[in-house]
Amino acid sequence: MDQVVDNKTQQTLNFVGGEYRPSSSNKTFENINPIDGSVASIVHEADKSDVDAAVKAAKAAMAGEWGKMPMAKRLDLIGKLADGINARFDEFLAAEVADTGKPNSLASHIDIPRGAANFQVFADTMKSHHGEFFKMDTPDGTGAINYTSERPKGVIGVICPWNLPLLLMTWKVGPAMACGNAVVVKPSEETPQTATLLGEVMNEVGIPKGVYNVINGFGPDSAGEYLTQHPDVDAITFTGETVTGEAIMKEAAVGMRDVSFELGGKNAGLIFADCDMDKAIEGTLRSAFANCGQVCLNTEKLLVERPIFDEFVTRLKEGVENMKVGLPTDKDTDMGPLVSHGHRDKVLSYYEAAVKEGATVVTGGGVPDMGEDLNGGAWIEPTIWTDLADDASPVTDEIFGPCCHIRPFDTEEEAIELANNTEYGLATSIWTENLTRAHRVAPQIDVGITWVNCWFLRDLRTPFGGAKQSGIGREGGEYSLEFYLETSNICVKL
Ligand code: NAD
Repeated sequence: MDQVVDNKTQQTLNFVGGEYRPSSSNKTFENINPIDGSVASIVHEADKSDVDAAVKAAKAAMAGEWGKMPMAKRLDLIGKLADGINARFDEFLAAEVADTGKPNSLASHIDIPRGAANFQVFADTMKSHHGEFFKMDTPDGTGAINYTSERPKGVIGVICPWNLPLLLMTWKVGPAMACGNAVVVKPSEETPQTATLLGEVMNEVGIPKGVYNVINGFGPDSAGEYLTQHPDVDAITFTGETVTGEAIMKEAAVGMRDVSFELGGKNAGLIFADCDMDKAIEGTLRSAFANCGQVCLNTEKLLVERPIFDEFVTRLKEGVENMKVGLPTDKDTDMGPLVSHGHRDKVLSYYEAAVKEGATVVTGGGVPDMGEDLNGGAWIEPTIWTDLADDASPVTDEIFGPCCHIRPFDTEEEAIELANNTEYGLATSIWTENLTRAHRVAPQIDVGITWVNCWFLRDLRTPFGGAKQSGIGREGGEYSLEFYLETSNICVKL
């Protein structure tokens, strides 16, 4: 059965055992389009019995055709998922934009193509993956051999955020399936459409029923929590806020289920006086404001060496004031709205706190007038502050909006200390033309990824993840496979 569409409003159903089905309890909620406040779809909230059915379907797939399928065939099917998404590119794009409000130019370059490519990337990674072999001596001189044997972990619970919905979901589902697992996905309640639509592609490609399931709903007392509490979920992979990660970890402790966490960040940008100013400005405009600041890797905390502080602030202000906040479909739009009114309330509370805590508002600070048709959307002004204390809440907390604080520093040591002065440890960007300095500073920042003279650039085979409270484990290439495979040693006495 295809995703049901009535003539009025798109219905976002659950996808269980290869079929779309409404919530057993008939509970629904509205998925609001943040561009104008209209209803993008009616979402069917999975109750406990729906989640149970999804986990059972996944378990049955593992015991059935999927679990027995030769690896070559499995990886071939997974590769076809990338083609299947690309064949319906415009539908995925429209769904992602309606859910998030992000510019088409961004979603069509990053979210959808990278979301599709993840399947091919991890099918390829799995093809070249190999185990280990060790030959050892024994007292009787005959020796023994040890080799690793790997099998899928089983049913993986996949819980996703709303900022890059398809991309971050397939970043987990791709390797999980390549390793032979079955998944139950809980997309964010704000952005349920692309994960749900992907069920159709799974069926078109011929992925066996029950390998990919989607349950829609919220976190606590809803689909998210029911999934993490389900005893037949063998491992949980989660991207979202640190505090949610803590709640999920408590549930995962029951039954000793494995977790992989990509969590929040408060990332510093270090701009040294010996940087190429044009590149640093261009890079920082992206790192602080791309996707309306809703990127876990974004730089909300800018540290600028004092001799270039004034020039940097002036030029960043100019750059921000030249950015076009507008409709996703307009080609020259740089920034859309925030994902929801709820999130805008949170970001605006920091805009207010900044003023109360003594900030100089360099630019922005409020809500733009977008005109009658759009004022119902979650629009917000990109904002720059200076003059806040190091312990002011907009400087210490992850805001996840289009805003940054700029602070001067005098020495390299001071910049490193300020960058590390946070409970998070996700990412940092260093801007300097002095490569000796770059290599000296980079390893001293306690984060999972440090960029030098760039941002959001990465070979997908490299480890990705957070230090401190920004995560547990690493994803990317072989690192992802490690989580989705159970490895054992077989020791043979010769
Ligand atoms: P969130 O933690 O509020 O929600 C994420 C998901 O968890 C949603 O699907 C939600 O319904 C679910 N959830 C919430 N409470 C739950 C519970 N008790 N049990 C089970 N599921 C629950 O995060 P968000 O607001 O959707 O996303 C923004 C956050 O994600 C930011 O903190 C950002 O830094 C982080 N993030 C991190 C990365 C990374 O790679 N480190 C990438 C993207 C986003």
